[in-house]
Amino acid sequence: MSTLVQVSQVSKSFLDNPVIKGVSFSVEEGEIICILGESGSGKSTLLRMIGGLEDADEGSIVVEEEEITGPAHNLVPGFDFINFVSQSFRLEPFRTVWDNISSVISYLPDQERETKVNDLLVLCKLTDKSKAYPRELSGGQQQRVAIAMALADDPFLLLMDEPFSNLDVNMKTQIREEIVEILRKAEVTVILVSHDPIDAMSIADRVIILESGQISQIDTPQVLYENPSSPYAAKFLGPMN
Ligand code: ADP
Ligand code: MG
Repeated sequence: MSTLVQVSQVSKSFLDNPVIKGVSFSVEEGEIICILGESGSGKSTLLRMIGGLEDADEGSIVVEEEEITGPAHNLVPGFDFINFVSQSFRLEPFRTVWDNISSVISYLPDQERETKVNDLLVLCKLTDKSKAYPRELSGGQQQRVAIAMALADDPFLLLMDEPFSNLDVNMKTQIREEIVEILRKAEVTVILVSHDPIDAMSIADRVIILESGQISQIDTPQVLYENPSSPYAAKFLGPMN
C-alpha cells in the first residue's frame, strides 16, 4: 500500500476561533477512513481543506504527491480527481438518472460515455432506474446516483460529508452495506465524516476521533472499541455504552 493523503500539522481558525489544531494523519490507497466527532468538532472544515475548498492557516496537505493549497488549488489544470459527495446529493431534478450521471462526463465521446454510464448503473445497482427522475427514487437510491456521479470521472479520492445523515433511520443499516460494497468494488480511497459511531464502526478500515479540532485517537474499529484512549472516545464507542 502507498500513502495517498498526508495531512501534517494542519491548523485553521475562523477569526480568533481555532477550529483545527495541529492535525496530522495519513490515508493509504484504497482505505476507507472515517473522521468521527461531535457536531462542531471541525470535521467539515478538515474535509473541506483536504478537498481544496478551504485554506489551511498552517501545515500541509499532500494528495497524490500534490500539495493542496486551498481554493486557488482548484485552478490547477488537470487536478480534478478529488470528488465530494454531500448530504444533499445535488441531483438535477428534471434529468433522469441516466442523464444526471451522463452529464458529469459529457466530455467523453458518445460510445465511451454510454459504456461508462452503463457500468456505473450496474455497479450502483441502478440499471432498472436509468429512466427514473430523482423524485421517483428512495433516499438510498438517490444517494447511489450521487455516488455514481462522483465516481464517473474516476476520482482517486472521494470525500463524503455525513453521507447518511439525511436517510431514513430504518434503512440506514442496509444503505450502509450497499454503499460500502460499491466503494470497495470501485477501489476508491474514501474519507468520510460522521457524528454517528455506528457509521464509523460498520464502514471504516480506520477511525479518526476528532475532539474539539484535535485528534484523540486513530485506530481500527476493533481496537477503538476494545481500547478507547479517552473518555470522549469511550463515550462514543466504548463497551460502557
Ligand atoms: P463539524 O462538521 O464537526 O460539525 P465544522 O467544521 O462545521 O464542524 O465547524 C467547526 C467550528 O468552526 C464550528 O464552531 C463552526 O461554527 C466554525 N465554522 C465553520 N465554518 C465556519 C466559517 N466559514 N466561518 C466561521 N466559523 C466557521
Ligand atoms: Mg459538518
